[in-house]
Amino acid sequence: MDTFVSDSVSPPRVAMLGGTFDPVHLGHLRSAVELAEALDLDRVHMIPAQRPPLRGAPGLPGHQRLALLRLGIGDTPRLHADDREIHRDGPSYSADTLASLRDEYGEQARLVMALGHDAFLKLADWHQPQRLFALAHLVVLERPDHYQPLAPALRELIDGREVDDPAALFAAPAGGLLRLSLESRMAISATAVRERLRHGGSVRYLLPEAVEREIMALGLYRHER
Ligand code: ATP
Repeated sequence: MDTFVSDSVSPPRVAMLGGTFDPVHLGHLRSAVELAEALDLDRVHMIPAQRPPLRGAPGLPGHQRLALLRLGIGDTPRLHADDREIHRDGPSYSADTLASLRDEYGEQARLVMALGHDAFLKLADWHQPQRLFALAHLVVLERPDHYQPLAPALRELIDGREVDDPAALFAAPAGGLLRLSLESRMAISATAVRERLRHGGSVRYLLPEAVEREIMALGLYRHER
């Protein structure tokens, strides 16, 4: 990976956006760009899980999802396709990934784990959920197609952590929670993209062009798995 060099004296602001990225779509990428802008981040690590712990096996192997992610990001400033989970054995726990980012960027770095509202709803079931807050702030991105109230276990987990704005969040290196309503909330999901590809439907303007071209060229996602 290219080494991050901060050009400012304040601690770096870095986010992780983990996921299956099966495949990456414009909902992911636009969210990552707007997240970087909204929080004035130095970098957003987009990190495909090799083995997502809480769902079935992805449609494509990790290295292929990573290759599509790289194509999708292209030369977008601040976005980085990160292969660290692809090269790790065992389930891809976000707490371990955040620990490795913390090692890389240092104790004072402002570290963010960003996730969509759908993923946030299941947070209490994740591996070591309290450790996530010891390592990073959580930023929850609203998704127009996912609204649900929070379960009691989740409310307990986030109790007292929520703040109203980025300045309050970045007063400390980790431990806070911020909900963000980004400008371009997009009702795009990888499930719907896979479904369209399976049935030969158009995925134009749901995916970056380069990702669509590669999927078509290789005939990916055409068959039920
Ligand atoms: P699937 O439909 O296969 O579950 P997905 O589209 O939700 O996939 P993931 O790879 O599971 O994509 O998502 C990675 C992260 O990005 C998750 O935190 C998810 O909530 C978030 N995310 C995905 N799509 C969007 C979107 N359109 N807007 C905002 N966040 C999104």
